[in-house]
Amino acid sequence: MPALWIKNGRVIDPAAKRDETGDVFAVDGRIVPSLPPAERKRAEALDARGLVVCPGLVDIHVHFREPGQTHKENIQSGARAAAAGGFTTVVCMPNTSPPVDNAGTLQLVNAAAAKAVVRVLPTACITVGMKGQQLAPHGPLKAAGAVALTDDGLCVQSNELMRRAVEYARMFDLPVLDHCQDDSLTDKAVMNEGVVSTRLGLKGWPHAAEDIIVARDIILSHYSGAHIHLQHISSALSVELIRRAKRDGVRITAEATPHHLALTEEALATYDTNFKMNPPLRTEADRQARIAGVKDGTIDCIGTDHAPHSPDEKDREFDYAPNGIIGLETALPVTLGVLVGEARLKLPRVVDLMTRRAAEVLRLPAGTLAPGAAADVCVFDPVERWTYHAAQGFSKSRNSPWDGRTVTGRVRATVVGGRVVYTAEGGFA
Ligand SMILES: [Zn+2]
Ligand SMILES: [Zn+2]
Repeated sequence: MPALWIKNGRVIDPAAKRDETGDVFAVDGRIVPSLPPAERKRAEALDARGLVVCPGLVDIHVHFREPGQTHKENIQSGARAAAAGGFTTVVCMPNTSPPVDNAGTLQLVNAAAAKAVVRVLPTACITVGMKGQQLAPHGPLKAAGAVALTDDGLCVQSNELMRRAVEYARMFDLPVLDHCQDDSLTDKAVMNEGVVSTRLGLKGWPHAAEDIIVARDIILSHYSGAHIHLQHISSALSVELIRRAKRDGVRITAEATPHHLALTEEALATYDTNFKMNPPLRTEADRQARIAGVKDGTIDCIGTDHAPHSPDEKDREFDYAPNGIIGLETALPVTLGVLVGEARLKLPRVVDLMTRRAAEVLRLPAGTLAPGAAADVCVFDPVERWTYHAAQGFSKSRNSPWDGRTVTGRVRATVVGGRVVYTAEGGFA
């Protein structure tokens, strides 16, 4: 593999406190501080003039549907969607068919991940079959490569079982990722509970159902010392509970999705199922609370919750359509639009949320361009306006609320291990 020379970009590497116009070099898959002139001549060169050069983006929350539902996505297609969105490391959820609740299934995921165009890291279930009744074998799952435990899509309802789960997880030094939902409050619910759900005649999912589990997890983390990461936080009260718990030194972290940062329940007025997700889109006040949580560090990182579903599944009556949307190819522009365009955060802060801080939550060796680090790089144009067409994307599914919409900020090239795997002009080599 030739050396790589990314020239004259705005290099933003928050982990190394770097923000300057300059070059990035890689040899044998690793970042190096410089290249001798003779080697520069032979290096593969990438002109990044006018572009941002940052660590490859990290997403700790994706659903790649393999094994079992590969008509929606598989690890290969999901990884290509990730690369096209600037992501070089993604963490996939274990709610596949069958679920990843044993080392054998996890090895299948690992085998497919080894052939993927970006780094795909597996998680494993908290409970057997995600049934919330019996703990999965956490030790063998860690030994097989699980980077965290989660029943995402579902939430362990028994506090007693969740207590044991987080105690085991702590023993095995594994973070637990929780999808916070009290099922007793959300039976048949399809959107946020409030005036809009009443107007639309749809069954509501009260934010209290999230808040109760967030509070439960804070208490269990405080009690056990286990690290619990709260996924896709949607409610203003949950943000406040997390803020107070962090102030008290509790070992919790939290993520927000681009769609919860950008959209509210008002988007459901047309009953478009591409706005149906779990947790649901909420009120403008909730959205503002999430943005404030990102600003003050209460929310640690952005996670897409990329959730592919086929058109025949999504094109159903609202009550019957599955939850979730794809998000990898639009995450960067949507997040930039909200956090830089609207909330006036500086660009390096947003890069930080999508690189170093996401990696830190799961202690992954990613998210920096420091010498010696893996040469995983995202090159993007922060001001390019372009129209996203899901049908032209790389996911197998098209369930995106941004299909046909014009967004600002476009990935121009993605580098994994020193190799240019994707460019906006040429797609995948
Ligand atoms: Zn979830
Ligand atoms: Zn999810």
